[in-house]
Formats: sequence, C-alpha cells, structure tokens
Amino acid sequence: MTAGWGAPIGVVAAGAGLFAWGACHPASQLFGPTTRHVAPGTVALTFDDGPNPAITPGLLDLLDRHGARATFFLIGRFVEAEPGLAAEIAARGHRLGNHTATHPSLIWRTPARIADEIGRCQDAIERATGRRPEWLRPPYGFRGPHLQAVARRMGIRGIAMWSVTGYDWTPQPAGRMARRLSRVGGRDIVLLHDGWHGGLGADRRHTVDALAYWLPRWVDRGLGLAAMPGTSEIEGGRS
Ligand SMILES: [Zn+2]
Repeated sequence: MTAGWGAPIGVVAAGAGLFAWGACHPASQLFGPTTRHVAPGTVALTFDDGPNPAITPGLLDLLDRHGARATFFLIGRFVEAEPGLAAEIAARGHRLGNHTATHPSLIWRTPARIADEIGRCQDAIERATGRRPEWLRPPYGFRGPHLQAVARRMGIRGIAMWSVTGYDWTPQPAGRMARRLSRVGGRDIVLLHDGWHGGLGADRRHTVDALAYWLPRWVDRGLGLAAMPGTSEIEGGRS
C-alpha cells in the first residue's frame, strides 16, 4: 500500500516546496514580477517597519551627513501614530513605500483583506505626506497568488524585494552587521530595518552604527546612494 502513495506524496511535497519558494524567496517571480536590483553604480538602501521615533530621526541625520537618499517602507498604523515623522522622512528627500497597515503575512489572505491592508497604508501615508507610494514591500517578503493583481488595483506599481539583507531585526553587535554589509555593491537593494512591526520604539542602533561605518566608504567608492527610482524608470521591466 505504501508504494502506491509514494509518488503522489512526492508530487505534493514538490508542489508545496515550489509554493513556499515562490511565496518567500526574494528572487522568485512565480507570483508575478518583482524588483531586486537598481541601476549600475547605485545602492538602494531600504528601511522597513517604521517610522520609529527611537531610531528614524537619528538615521535621517546620518543619511543627510553623507548625502544619501533611501526608501522607507512604512507600516500604516505607525504612520497614524507618528504622522509628523512620516512627513519629515518625505520632506528630507526620501521615498516612501507601502508596508501594509498592520504587517500581516499576505500569503493566505483573501483579495479583500490584502486590498484593505494596502489601501489603509496608502491612505495613512497620503494623509501624513500628501503622497501615495508606488512601491510595495510585502511583510516578510511573502507573496501569494492574489498579491500582484490586488496591489496594482490599489495603485501600487512595483513590488520591491532585495538582493542583500542585513539580518538586522534582532539587536546585535554593530560589528557583526557591518561585516555582513561588506558584500553590498552597485545595483543592490539592501533590506534594513529602522523599526519593528510589533511596536514603536525598537532598538535598531546596530543598524545605524553599521551604516555610520559604511556610508562614507560607499561614497568613497563612488557608489550612488539613492532612493528606489520611480517605477517607470525601471528599465526593461524587472530584474
Ligand atoms: Zn516588515
């Protein structure tokens, strides 16, 4: 009896594995196109889960000191709590992105729930800054079969993933993180965090300190530190 079950179970397991990879891996295009790279010679720093009053103001000062512009993927409920800080990020020349209203995994949500999460975040950011983001970063990077179509309907023009991650969502020595960022080079989209999806006030000093080390070095190497481009500027679709 068991022999007869072997093949179907194998097929199911392979299907589940492919689904998990398609939903979770930053390079997967299974559920629609995503963006993982920017122009040659450019690094796109991206900060998720803010705005965070404990970290974001100092981070903005650090970025200013080095002439760096970045992209902040904000959580809608934190924008509602800190609208002035969200406005400050935009006023200082950074791009704002949508990271949903409450940061659920979107893999198994209904289209209506996905639309609600994206729409409430768009509305919160527009109320605070007067702008509606065109980039979405799904929480945890997880995507499901409905995400692409729903996001587009809500005014999102691109799904921003990453090519390098700082693994910075737990407190850690800044030196360890700085070593991890040594692989950053031209074209990279770098996943970093200035906040925490569980609440305001998270400690992300390791991220700020690692950037204080690397920002002047990246500038010395001639790398451009820029916000994500407008989605219409992403040449030839996605990469
Ligand atoms: Zn997040």
